[in-house]
Amino acid sequence: MTLLDPAPTASHPVALAAPTGVRRLLAAGGPDPDAHRATFGARPRPTPDRLIAEAEVAGLTGRGGAGFPVHRKLRAAAEAGGGTNRRTGAGPGAGTPVVIGNGSEGEPLSAKDRLLLRTAPQLVLDGLLLAAEAIGAGEIRLVADAELHAGLRTALAAHDEGARIQLAAARGDFVGGEASAVVSALEGRRPVPRDHAIRLTGSGYRRRPTLLQNVETLAHLALIARFGGAWFRSIGGAAADPADDAGAGSPIDAGTRLVTASAPGTALTVLEVAGGTRLGTVLAAARLDDAGVRASGLGAGVRAVLVGGYHGAWVPAAALDAPFSVAGLAPWGATPGAGILHVLPHGRCGLRVAAGITRMLAAESAGQCGPCVNGLPRIAGLLERVARGERDPGLTDEIARVGELVAGRGACHHPDGTLRLVASTLREFASDIAAHRAGTCEEEGR
Ligand code: SF4
Repeated sequence: MTLLDPAPTASHPVALAAPTGVRRLLAAGGPDPDAHRATFGARPRPTPDRLIAEAEVAGLTGRGGAGFPVHRKLRAAAEAGGGTNRRTGAGPGAGTPVVIGNGSEGEPLSAKDRLLLRTAPQLVLDGLLLAAEAIGAGEIRLVADAELHAGLRTALAAHDEGARIQLAAARGDFVGGEASAVVSALEGRRPVPRDHAIRLTGSGYRRRPTLLQNVETLAHLALIARFGGAWFRSIGGAAADPADDAGAGSPIDAGTRLVTASAPGTALTVLEVAGGTRLGTVLAAARLDDAGVRASGLGAGVRAVLVGGYHGAWVPAAALDAPFSVAGLAPWGATPGAGILHVLPHGRCGLRVAAGITRMLAAESAGQCGPCVNGLPRIAGLLERVARGERDPGLTDEIARVGELVAGRGACHHPDGTLRLVASTLREFASDIAAHRAGTCEEEGR
């Protein structure tokens, strides 16, 4: 039974049973709209207040990395569109909201958004339209990798309301997927982040109230509109770990999330898991737990896991018993982020892997903030020297010193995200740093 008020069509009754397992998004029958409606029913048309209320009950948080409560962004964009824009002074009408589905996936360790746009585009389109109606948007954009555009154009043409949505190409680079950089690119300006003190919900695309949501978030919203917030939180979050629950609408990792799991040299595996599932259980499903790593010849078990991607944090193997949730990962300074797990097997040098990632991140700076432009390459160079085994004990102190000069001083979160990775590297691989100074390394061949 559905909780909201869908609009049935003659051929597609909407009162379908809600998915009962953890395969919710991945239950989609494929990109074909008939398969989509046969699985999920027709798109419902809740009132804006009703949709926002259900999103709050669900405790849905953004799946792009920041994990912000979705109902708060919806409400802020709706209110900004209905009143005076406080920053620009523009009144109602001049600030007709815009909604943007963000499928930019510049994170090298993530493949979930591309998979979703390939296998369940109709669900994403439904979520975009629902979000647009909730905030009174006059313009709807979907940003995705150019390689997906042929399939998405087909999906848009097949969707009843696809003509309302404009498709745009993602930049494909790491920083270009940042929310304000996506907005800048859509405006035809250089695709670099803006001052993150300015909230897009108040003044985004062409200074209009702008709701930008990750495509997985929108797909979840489409299911919440059909089956309700209570259904969404019936697994994951509080259902998995009652101690994680701070009440309806709290960010509790409710529902399911898509996870991309990998190890050095492996393909990226995308799974759908309940929020709060043990880290080790998620890795076992991807055959990247101790047994899986050994069986595939990757190494002698799990040494550490990079959680949250290149802007994430390393956690030790001891964290495999922790829930994959905000609260569960907090002791290690990590968060689920965009749902990324990258396993470092025993026998691989974590310092070398981290130095390579840090060098790549330094090269990804958008080049507009001095501390980022100068500081990140300096830190990357220092970490490379540690990874090479230079015996200067001052290298790590210098990394910490430069880090303090960079922290909090970028226009976007790129420097701080990079510093999080580096700090966790120095913490989790402290014994490796000592070993390198002594001339040994866990990785063979050194
Ligand atoms: S902090 Fe770095 S990545 Fe972010 S806008 Fe400034 S230069 Fe670009």
